[in-house]
Amino acid sequence: MAVKKRIGIFGGTFDPIHLGHLIVAETIMDEFSLDRVVFIPAAVPPHKLGKDISAAHHRYMMTMLAICSNPRFEASDMEMRRTGPSYSRDTLAELIREHGEDTDFYFIVGADSVASLHTWNRIEELLSMCHFVGASRPGCLPDMEEIRRRFGRLAEKIHCLETPELEISSTDIRERVRQGKTVRYIVPEAVEQYIYKERLYL
Ligand code: ATP
Ligand code: MG
Repeated sequence: MAVKKRIGIFGGTFDPIHLGHLIVAETIMDEFSLDRVVFIPAAVPPHKLGKDISAAHHRYMMTMLAICSNPRFEASDMEMRRTGPSYSRDTLAELIREHGEDTDFYFIVGADSVASLHTWNRIEELLSMCHFVGASRPGCLPDMEEIRRRFGRLAEKIHCLETPELEISSTDIRERVRQGKTVRYIVPEAVEQYIYKERLYL
């Protein structure tokens, strides 16, 4: 039987994408021998309904600018082509339809997202469709006992990987821009320029 392809899926709001995201994706791609990682900005992040989020086209453009120099990173606008909340379960179903049986999907998340997986839409179905890889994040330590209690055998699909802990968040970056503080070396240079050009986060 042919070796299955391994594709990493990195969903997020990416408002903006930052070095934390990129380092986590590169580390997980390497550790899990992924062929590539697809970054998918959520058009309507279900956990951020009612929050003030930049337009999806800005977040997608910044994602493109951040990943374009890495031959194994891609950005997809697939969630921007759907209406309603961007549920990862629907995204995975679409990807599986597209790629068929010859691909294993690895959904990349930070430790804070691992801890709140039980709140995700149709999470059991999603766990049956892909693996989850949780990356370390400062101040977040998912309780694996609790996860095993909640998900039973499906918990085997959730892997935690120690990645370099980076105290970087989009919330902090937006606040820094608003206050006129530097974000150099926290976001890629092209993303920094885009933020200023489009006057985001002011
Ligand atoms: P915000 O502060 O707006 O929530 P964020 O920095 O958490 O932004 P998101 O777009 O919400 O970025 O995150 C997308 C995914 O990346 C989530 O699974 C999140 O846990 C993960 N992630 C974000 N920043 C880091 C980081 N520094 N280390 C590890 N994982 C991260
Ligand atoms: Mg977040």
